[in-house]
Amino acid sequence: MNEATDSTVERPPEGSIIDTRYWHVLEDGRVQCDVCPRACKLRDGQRGLCFVRGAEAGRVKLFSYGRSSGFCVDPIEKKPLNHFLPGTSVLSFGTAGCNLACKFCFHPDTLIATTRGMKRIADLFEGCGEKISHDGGEVGFPASLKVWTRIASQALVAKVFAHPYCGELLSLKANCCPPVLLTPNHKVFAAHRSNLADIRPIEAANLSIDH
Ligand code: SF4
Repeated sequence: MNEATDSTVERPPEGSIIDTRYWHVLEDGRVQCDVCPRACKLRDGQRGLCFVRGAEAGRVKLFSYGRSSGFCVDPIEKKPLNHFLPGTSVLSFGTAGCNLACKFCFHPDTLIATTRGMKRIADLFEGCGEKISHDGGEVGFPASLKVWTRIASQALVAKVFAHPYCGELLSLKANCCPPVLLTPNHKVFAAHRSNLADIRPIEAANLSIDH
């Protein structure tokens, strides 16, 4: 299963780092996280594929405790509950971190606005010191790569993905930007001209000239 990488990310506040319960020590001294089927096997200083659990002092710790990254009111039917209060709403929240490795992609020549200038995704992937094979592709773990976000703040990049792909690519051209090639299921932040304040992730195939 998955290995992980040395973590050089900024250390979160101490209150956000807690011991976890579901892990065990392997014969070679690594610790294995038992929370999800990735079963990450970690040495001290490494993070799991989800990037929010990792090994420290011979234990698996969670590094995102109490740090919600999103709140949303959902229909209760979206949740994994069986006939619990049907027709009602539920408040959902979660932290950063994801154990999926999704297959939507940009073309490797796509330029990314990093804090070190515009860089091709392919070059960012090649610059990753450690890579793992996963599900027919590869996941690279950059050491200290930061990018500019849509709100002009800096964000640390946890992973860079490379997937073999044979299928349709769409060319997307936003005002004042060069076109980018991406898979039809790749979401991008966009607003419809009928409500420019409503910026949301939309699959590229569902965009129109009115977005
Ligand atoms: S992806 Fe995260 S939760 Fe899943 S096994 Fe790895 S460290 Fe644990």
